[in-house]
Amino acid sequence: MECKLIVHPLAHGIFQISDAMHGPNSDGYSTEPGKATANSYLIIGEERAVLIDLTLNTPELYAYAQSLAGKPILVLLTHGHPDHIYHLNTVPEAWLHPADDTMVREGIPGISFPYPDTVLHPLTDGQQIDLGGRTIKVISLPGHTMGSVLFLDQESGLLFVGDTCARRLLYGVTPTIPVFRHCEMLERLMKQDFSVMYSAHDRCALPKEYIQTILHCIREELPKAGETVMIPGVGEMKNLHWGEEDTLHYFDLAIMEQYIQ
Ligand SMILES: [Zn+2]
Repeated sequence: MECKLIVHPLAHGIFQISDAMHGPNSDGYSTEPGKATANSYLIIGEERAVLIDLTLNTPELYAYAQSLAGKPILVLLTHGHPDHIYHLNTVPEAWLHPADDTMVREGIPGISFPYPDTVLHPLTDGQQIDLGGRTIKVISLPGHTMGSVLFLDQESGLLFVGDTCARRLLYGVTPTIPVFRHCEMLERLMKQDFSVMYSAHDRCALPKEYIQTILHCIREELPKAGETVMIPGVGEMKNLHWGEEDTLHYFDLAIMEQYIQ
């Protein structure tokens, strides 16, 4: 298949699929911390596989993942943002937390177009998805969006976090919970049994301890931040830049003022 995708094996039966090799917002083939990338993840069990997020703006992604897995694929979405549902019309059905259904079906006014006819199945907190020989656990963690979820592969201890526990956090583009309430949920997440996290926009692994960095930045650094950034279609957001982008000691937060509570 003619398809410019980069595939990194992460663990037994788990692959990171990326694109944007040398385009804007890319860091080439590197898996070191760097500029934002776009990553989907394929987890293959004995009977079926899951593809986490349609993060690549390439219509061949689903077919490519199917050929790599060699078995039926379920498409799981960490949330309903437009850069996670590219070419959703190329898949027969997808699984999503119902709180983000409207975002997908109606689009986000001024930002993205709708997918009104997609068959969406609900994901719920604590749900176990059996792939045959391995099970994926769904963890609900609202904040980035109300329907944001994480996926834990219990066999490898890898946690797939979408845009939730990432080095760049966009907060409050659509109605959500206060960010300090979100922090309490991040603290609870640390009690779950996992070792590293993989996000949708960094190829590097994030150690579990990175959650402490997020908590520090939101609780200690955000109140001191004075910058704002204008997001097209959204408006002015408060902006925190912390650390260096080519290290793990980096966090970039854009947040609507009303959620800083
Ligand atoms: Zn997002």
